Amino acid sequence: MQKQPGDIDLQSISTDPVRLTRPGNELAEVFMLRLDKIHPQVSGNKWFKLRFYLDKAKALGKNRIITFGGAWSNHILATAAACKREGLPCTGIIRGERPDTISPVLSEAAALGMALYFVSRSAFTERQLPAGLDDPGHLIIPAGGYGLEGAKGAATLLDYCDNTGRFTHICCACGTGTMLAGLTRAAHPGQSVTGISVLKNHTGLAAEVQRLLDDPQKPVSIQHDYHFGGYARHTPALIQFMNHWFRVNRIPTDFVYTGKLCYAVEDLLNKGYFPDGSRILLIHSGGLYGNSSLSKGTLIF
Ligand SMILES: *Cc1c(COP(=O)(O)O)cnc(C)c1O
Repeated sequence: MQKQPGDIDLQSISTDPVRLTRPGNELAEVFMLRLDKIHPQVSGNKWFKLRFYLDKAKALGKNRIITFGGAWSNHILATAAACKREGLPCTGIIRGERPDTISPVLSEAAALGMALYFVSRSAFTERQLPAGLDDPGHLIIPAGGYGLEGAKGAATLLDYCDNTGRFTHICCACGTGTMLAGLTRAAHPGQSVTGISVLKNHTGLAAEVQRLLDDPQKPVSIQHDYHFGGYARHTPALIQFMNHWFRVNRIPTDFVYTGKLCYAVEDLLNKGYFPDGSRILLIHSGGLYGNSSLSKGTLIF
């Protein structure tokens, strides 16, 4: 297929060495897999999680994709862009009543052709499909791409770096845990994978990840203490850290996921979580678009 403007650019993915913002650089080598570079809006892990759902929709001759998300959902925007590229109609079921002005993420998704359907929070929680959308011709993708296809797609993101035993540890941020499941599936024996949960008290996460593994005996390692108040919450310390990280590495992070990931890994490194001489791969899973919800001047990038 000829390359078109707006295409996902997998060639742009690099593995960049990074430095810590505080002492500890001698303890480990740290790298970042730059999935944020593949697309300005569909950056990061979301396209990887969607790829096998889209293949399945095509193989089964489905005529519409239906999925779920909130007003700032990276998953909604990625689905809209991926479906446009595939020529597949799509509908996003959005949590909460339609506000007077919809978020930039949702207006972007609508501009890409996604039909938006606002439902009450309770209907959203129960995953009720509005009348008319419950149709065998539709493929339903769970919120966040959670599911086996999502995990298998996320497993392929390691194909875009040299992972021939070069890294002892792989670390990623977790929302639904689908990416963590994919990385755990794809990791070599002896490589350990750690997820940083960005939700507060998401105690069921490990079980949800386990459900997506090929070998349910594989250990799942999750850190729960780096949510900074909860999902999409932030503190001055986090913002200061992200600005510092940018000054040192010239790599932007987002405040919902990757900023918390980098902060956590620095902190864990200093607490001795990683053995000396570890070679750690951080997954830059994108999400930078979400920073536009912060007031101007908060971040220096
Ligand atoms: C969605 C998202 C995640 C979380 O992925 P899960 O598979 O749901 O755990 C991490 N980082 C970014 C930037 C995301 O947009």
